[in-house]
Amino acid sequence: MQDLTLIPAVKADLSALPFQGRHLINGEWRDSADHFERHSPAHGLLVSRHAKAGTAETEAAIQAARTAFDDGRWSRLSGKERAAVLTRVADLVGTRVEEMTLLECLETGKPIAQARGEIAGAADLWRYAAALARTLHGDSHNSLGPDMLAMVLKEPIGVVSIITPWNFPFWILGQKLPFALAAGCTCVVKPSEITPSTTVILGEILVEAGLPPGVVNIVLGHGQPVGSLMASHPEVNMVSFTGSTLVGRSIQAAASATLKKVALELGGKNPQVIFPDADLDQAADAVTFGVYFNAGECCNSGSRIIVHEDIAEAFTAKVTALSRRVAFGDPLDEATQVGAIVSPAHLGRIDGFVKDAVKAGAQIALGGEAISIPGLSGDFYGPTIVTGVTPDMAIAREEVFGPVLSVLTFRTLDEAIALANDGSYGLSAGVWSENVHTCLAFARRVEAGTIWTNTWMDGFPEVTFGGMKQSGLGRENGRYGLEEYLEPKSVVMRIGRSRSNWVR
Ligand code: NAD
Repeated sequence: MQDLTLIPAVKADLSALPFQGRHLINGEWRDSADHFERHSPAHGLLVSRHAKAGTAETEAAIQAARTAFDDGRWSRLSGKERAAVLTRVADLVGTRVEEMTLLECLETGKPIAQARGEIAGAADLWRYAAALARTLHGDSHNSLGPDMLAMVLKEPIGVVSIITPWNFPFWILGQKLPFALAAGCTCVVKPSEITPSTTVILGEILVEAGLPPGVVNIVLGHGQPVGSLMASHPEVNMVSFTGSTLVGRSIQAAASATLKKVALELGGKNPQVIFPDADLDQAADAVTFGVYFNAGECCNSGSRIIVHEDIAEAFTAKVTALSRRVAFGDPLDEATQVGAIVSPAHLGRIDGFVKDAVKAGAQIALGGEAISIPGLSGDFYGPTIVTGVTPDMAIAREEVFGPVLSVLTFRTLDEAIALANDGSYGLSAGVWSENVHTCLAFARRVEAGTIWTNTWMDGFPEVTFGGMKQSGLGRENGRYGLEEYLEPKSVVMRIGRSRSNWVR
């Protein structure tokens, strides 16, 4: 392990900690009798302490959102008025980037430079949603005959429960909340109990931006009882959830009793296929980024590569050499590229996948164990490459959610596509080739919501994102992301007195 790039502990001003979080319900900040805490996984520092909601706080938040929706204080504003508030939110996020960056870095364990990029970048999601609020429109049908005219109105769906995970807390909230607000919905938001602080700060920003009380309510707490009540409550019209496939299934089941709309962004086991004619240096760099970004705790992690067998050995050697140069270490250091694993239990789960693969006959080309960072007590897993992986192994099929790359090989395009599609997930996939026909054939035949060709993980507010198969339901970002929160309503009109009586 001596030849890895390790960034030791740094000194930082943490005097403002712990951050104190409360619920935002009907425009007021509310505490609870119970509380929960978050310690940083890299340092063991107490980062934040939060009010812990039960059923009463959750009920109050849902009722506040219901009342706010029904009285039209937000849903009946013009698109221009809604856009003005969303733009102010984007501006205010810009003024609090550093404060949120520190909390996001410490609660998740991700590198501070990456956290800063995510917080600042999320402001752009709010700006884009403001543009959507102003350009929202339905359809008209002017070709139904001389005496008929029809319109399809797009109306906000109502009260939306938004439940988010710990791996990209502020960014993922930005893929949901501004779009729901642009549509005119009211919301109840529950951040992950592991990473709630930046969602609370967003609540402060929403109040300052002039969002009417009750339009966004934030409830801090756990899946039980808060999340499950948000998924099943009869006054909620839609649930938008990002998290694990396991919890996603339980949310769909809970929502089914009242037939709520459900949007799910779930796990992935995303393949990158590398053909021999690709720019192999570019591909190796992107594969390295794809597997270690966010310590692999990423739904879009490029956690398995499928490499043509003629180049498999040389390509794996390139990725192994690059992996040693990735800076693992203290999340507070600006130079760190990969930080801590979110919890000791999760670190054990990652290691279990690697050990099981070895027992099943795979080989370790690099890593395969926890590492220690000088001066830090926290949970770190080293860059890991597992070769000789066969499609039946759990490491090839399940979401490892750690800095672990599985290498599989192929001979023909058909075989590569079959391997890419072999599995229950369908979030994203990548193809590396200089031949446009190869790239397009791959893009058309692979079952995934996003296909990257000769790149990995580029995303834009304008470009929709979501999963096929068990990676999810529905789409975020882009116009499709707005449509999720709208209900079409047809208005069919007869012009003049041309209708003949039915009763003769
Ligand atoms: P998780 O499913 O454990 O938790 C997600 C959220 O659901 C948390 O807020 C949690 O408190 C809440 N929750 C837990 N049990 C619940 C229940 N019974 N009812 C309602 N809510 C409940 O996921 P996680 O560990 O926070 O995040 C990691 C997972 O998220 C990974 O599987 C990852 O792939 C997925 N993810 C997907 C995307 C995507 O866009 N597809 C993005 C990021 C993360």
